[in-house]
Amino acid sequence: MIPIAKPVLGNEEIEAVVEVLHSGRLAQGRKVEEFEEAFASYIGTRYAVAVNSGTAALHLALLAHGIGEGDEVITTPFSFIATGNAILFTGAKPVFVDIDEKTFNLDPDRLEEKITPRTKAILPVHLYGQPCVMDKIMDIAAKHNLAVIEDACQAHGAKYKGQKVGSFGTGCFSFYPTKNMITGEGGMVTTNNKEIAEKLKMLRNHGQKVRYFHEMLGYNLRMTDLAAAIGLCQLKKLEDFNAKRRSNAQDLTEGLQDLKGIITPYILSEVKHVFHQYTIRVSEKFGISRDTLREELIRLGINTEIYYPLPIHCQPFYRQLGYKEHLPRAEKASREVLSLPVHPAVSGTDIQDILDAFGKIISK
Ligand SMILES: *Cc1c(COP(=O)(O)O)cnc(C)c1O
Repeated sequence: MIPIAKPVLGNEEIEAVVEVLHSGRLAQGRKVEEFEEAFASYIGTRYAVAVNSGTAALHLALLAHGIGEGDEVITTPFSFIATGNAILFTGAKPVFVDIDEKTFNLDPDRLEEKITPRTKAILPVHLYGQPCVMDKIMDIAAKHNLAVIEDACQAHGAKYKGQKVGSFGTGCFSFYPTKNMITGEGGMVTTNNKEIAEKLKMLRNHGQKVRYFHEMLGYNLRMTDLAAAIGLCQLKKLEDFNAKRRSNAQDLTEGLQDLKGIITPYILSEVKHVFHQYTIRVSEKFGISRDTLREELIRLGINTEIYYPLPIHCQPFYRQLGYKEHLPRAEKASREVLSLPVHPAVSGTDIQDILDAFGKIISK
């Protein structure tokens, strides 16, 4: 079976973790600081603040920008649930804007019509590793005085016009084991704003700057030195991982682009896409339904996944909250997308097996 995701870990990570175990400092310490410095320098921001998940990164980034009860945050409905939930955690309301059909990212041309006097921030998601159209988003944010919080949980190292995502606004990253670089559980917030960075550090650690003096309501969302030690090793490998993802994606596209009814990923000319996922659309013209194709691929040893089968605004919990809106492009994408293995452990032979499997299914 070719898996849809697989952590790539070497002896470096194992030795780094053992070293931390020997040190006896298991919680947040020197390794976390080192990881923060290295990550900030990689993304190109002044500060990076480590937390224990991507969800925590989003939650604290929103809080650090002062977002809460009565505020609205505009985001995409076509993302992992954490994107919407992090907004709900703060007491604010997620407002969903439909996606662009080609990129699957929120459509900046539909953004402005969602802005109200309550809007405080825009939360774009760089889905599958493809950056959003940041020029337009930053212009709209500046015009309406809104914060920009980037969900870059799938886009470590992706670039828009040569600039890394996570450095336009306040960046949020995840190091969950399926992501482009991993720590187990883990997350990071990147920013150029000193005040935001300081707030983040307090929020993740019980609202204290000085031990046992609590200036605000904080949480325990700290990263461990064990996770940071893995992250430091992974960060060194990230460019190679991304290069492999990109070349796997190119090989898949070469093999699939001429199949009638299969729409291969569209890449904006001004971006570096890091292919967290390689996601095709299976349109009606393909003649075989997306779900049947998926079953057949699994039968032939190719694992696939649907990211995401239900947009956030259609989730049962969001329906209960009163979301009734129809966002046709996101809903259509949910019915048509299928992600194929593209991660760095996918070999040339695996790619050939995937393409052969499509051939077998079509000729049946
Ligand atoms: C993974 C992911 C998250 C959440 O990250 P966790 O580390 O799993 O909490 C948020 N948004 C997107 C788009 C993600 O892919």
